[in-house]
Amino acid sequence: MRELTKIVLSEQDMPTHWYNINADLPVAGIELPPPLHPGTKQPIGPADLAPLFPMALIMQEVSADRYIEIPDEVQQIYTLWRPSPLYRAHRWEQALDTPARIYYKYEGGSPAGSHKPNTAVPQAYYNKQEGVTRLSTETGAGQWGSALAFACQMFGIECKVYMVKVSYQQKPYRRALMQTWGATVIPSPSDQTNAGRSILAARPDSPGSLGIAISEAVEEAATRDDTKYALGSVLNHVLLHQTVIGQETIKQLELFGADWPDVVIACAGGGSNFGGLAFPFVRENIVGGKQARIVAVEPAAAPSLTRGVYAYDFGDTAGMAPLVKMHTLGSAFVPAPIHAGGLRYHGMSAQVSALKDAGLIEAVALKQTKIFDAALSFTKSEGILPAPEAAHAICQAMQEALACKESGEAKTIVFNLSGHGHFDLGAYENYMAGSLSDYEFPEAEMQESLAHLPQVA
Ligand SMILES: *Cc1c(COP(=O)(O)O)cnc(C)c1O
Repeated sequence: MRELTKIVLSEQDMPTHWYNINADLPVAGIELPPPLHPGTKQPIGPADLAPLFPMALIMQEVSADRYIEIPDEVQQIYTLWRPSPLYRAHRWEQALDTPARIYYKYEGGSPAGSHKPNTAVPQAYYNKQEGVTRLSTETGAGQWGSALAFACQMFGIECKVYMVKVSYQQKPYRRALMQTWGATVIPSPSDQTNAGRSILAARPDSPGSLGIAISEAVEEAATRDDTKYALGSVLNHVLLHQTVIGQETIKQLELFGADWPDVVIACAGGGSNFGGLAFPFVRENIVGGKQARIVAVEPAAAPSLTRGVYAYDFGDTAGMAPLVKMHTLGSAFVPAPIHAGGLRYHGMSAQVSALKDAGLIEAVALKQTKIFDAALSFTKSEGILPAPEAAHAICQAMQEALACKESGEAKTIVFNLSGHGHFDLGAYENYMAGSLSDYEFPEAEMQESLAHLPQVA
């Protein structure tokens, strides 16, 4: 009999709860350091965050409950693309001539083409519940902005997106997608906020950065009563919402009759698709007696987990966002213009950082030409064109599979294919023309950026 290529769960099998890893971190001896107020540098409480986020999300941010119920209205919108399929990469395994079994979870089937709507939808929902009528946010390559624009459209909320200027110019179709869902899109730095104006005064031709755009979106939410802020990665509640990915994957592996994975892999920008896939597996490592290796893959051009320091830092450039203890390259870091725009961030989720610091997960940094080599190898066998971000996970999976070819081991490898690359064809064109270059974050620049870390007692 032909072996199965994919497992597609029915809507009835969709997870009804999100998994909160904060409940299990103490078992692993991890205590998450609290976020600090950017001014006083004292631990912040729910009231400090209230201008920015609805209370329901603030409570999720600090919750220690292991499972949090997914509201019915959110589940209903999830059904537009969830459960997402888990594939066995039969054809790619053959092409690589590996005894390994490779599985990939495909999150590119959502309306925005990535995993990001998994959190955009509940974020819009809880804001709507609390009477919020406008959300502001930032976007780099445009993936988060389109996810939030879609989610706001679902709930009839206005959406204002500060888009990093260089992407605004280079990615007109992501911008148009956001506009079809009714969002207002502004290139950042802009003249609409103090943060934007001060950057423009110092450097009128600034290409912008995620950190700058965050400052603008946060300022708008903090200074307008009708507006709150939404963040697409990094925060605990964002990773929480993404855990539908890993929970579904565990069920699907079971239905495949697969072995428990030897390696679980995802790319990491701020850590949300990684946490979403990995945390349910990390739980089994902590309390279930399992021993999967859990690997986060980042770009060599923005290597926060592999080369950054574990320290308190600002989440934004202007120093308005709370201080979070995380693996960071320094909030002044302006990343090289690699094509994996979603991975160009100076910091990392506090939860992912703490797991890395405790040795419960691994991290590797890869260069972009190798990433595109792997993406092409994958798409030639499996057909799906991956987002350059997701191709980081593909590249690591490929290396693991080729190591199995050497050793003759039939390991089970699972990775997250976090999104499709249909808006990244310019990058593929450059790659095929041979005009893609590799960037490694220079040590001197990193030391310079780290010299400006905030002093915390
Ligand atoms: C945004 C994005 C990422 C990186 O963000 P994380 O929060 O680290 O997941 C990865 N892949 C895709 C397709 C994205 O859109």
